Amino acid sequence: QIDLRREFRDSKRIKQLVESIKRKSEGLDLPIRIMEFCGGHTHAIMKFGIDQLLEDVVRFVHGPGCPVCVMPMGRIDLALELARRGVILCSYGDLLRVPGSRRKSLLSLRAEGADVRMVYSCMDTLKIAKENPSREVVFFAIGFETTTPQTAVLIKKAQELGLNNLSVVSNHVITPAAIQHILNAPEIREIGKVRIDAFIGPGHVSVIIGTKPYHYFAEEFQKPVVISGFEPVDVLQSVLLIINQLKNREAKVQNQYGRFVTYEGNKKAQNLVADVFELRKEFEWRGLGNVPYSALKINAKYRAFDAERRFSVTLPEPREHPACICGKVIRGVSVPTDCKLFGTVCTPSNPLGSCMVSSEGACAAYFKYRKEF
Ligand code: SF4
Repeated sequence: QIDLRREFRDSKRIKQLVESIKRKSEGLDLPIRIMEFCGGHTHAIMKFGIDQLLEDVVRFVHGPGCPVCVMPMGRIDLALELARRGVILCSYGDLLRVPGSRRKSLLSLRAEGADVRMVYSCMDTLKIAKENPSREVVFFAIGFETTTPQTAVLIKKAQELGLNNLSVVSNHVITPAAIQHILNAPEIREIGKVRIDAFIGPGHVSVIIGTKPYHYFAEEFQKPVVISGFEPVDVLQSVLLIINQLKNREAKVQNQYGRFVTYEGNKKAQNLVADVFELRKEFEWRGLGNVPYSALKINAKYRAFDAERRFSVTLPEPREHPACICGKVIRGVSVPTDCKLFGTVCTPSNPLGSCMVSSEGACAAYFKYRKEF
């Protein structure tokens, strides 16, 4: 049993690491800009004040690794439209609060009578489908590689049980494709604006995909990548590993989260995903636009469970809230406090954009842990 508080929140170790980082970074072009891809890391950095501890040394650039935040308005509108059509629409909690083009969320539709249900596990939808044989049940699946294997199990189980009233909208997205897009995107490469020197790689995602897929970025783009855990000592150790690499002019992948992450990842989970899904040629991300081969759709073998095939939905052009700068926040071009609506009009209890809704969103993190707005 790991005692997280003692092992990874120890104030003495934290002080030592901060001192080492400051000492080792002497001579580098400061501040070093590190993109933490994952929303979980953004929250850890804010919660433990790591950005403040390393204020003069490191600038953390928040990445697009929050699955709710990156859902574009068009996909939210799709979920809303399906709910309006009388299906039982199931999804995870945070997604239900994201406003669509007409400023309505799934939760507000539920208040008007739509059958929208929050599930803690996608497997809950099996029970709902069994209990409602005369109703269409749609699971609106979101998430990075961490949650995709569970959706694959759900679809396989639905087939095994012959549940033909259950279908899935797959919005599962892929981390390496997004990182590659960020590194290729001209706006992100505008060095003066958002220089990125290195990446803190996602911990949970990497449990599934392993460290293998990151080697390409490190070599091709000459950026250090360190896969990190979520405790303050984890993040600080990862920063120190990055500083050491920069100091030695290296760009390689290192695994700080070795207690859970391996080189190959979870093969069983990868095989499940490969059996049920295939790559989409293109998928729109909020903030990043269309990213090639960055998401998964249900393959032909399981096409009967693909809600996008079952329901033909044509929607008007999605409309973003004109003052919400979520897209810029997701790209790392702006921070939440740059937004005029932050903390006044837009709060977690009245979110205007996805970054304030999600428990992993950057705006929600700033609101929770930074009170000086
Ligand atoms: Fe959008 Fe609200 Fe964040 Fe502003 S504070 S960028 S309105 S989510």
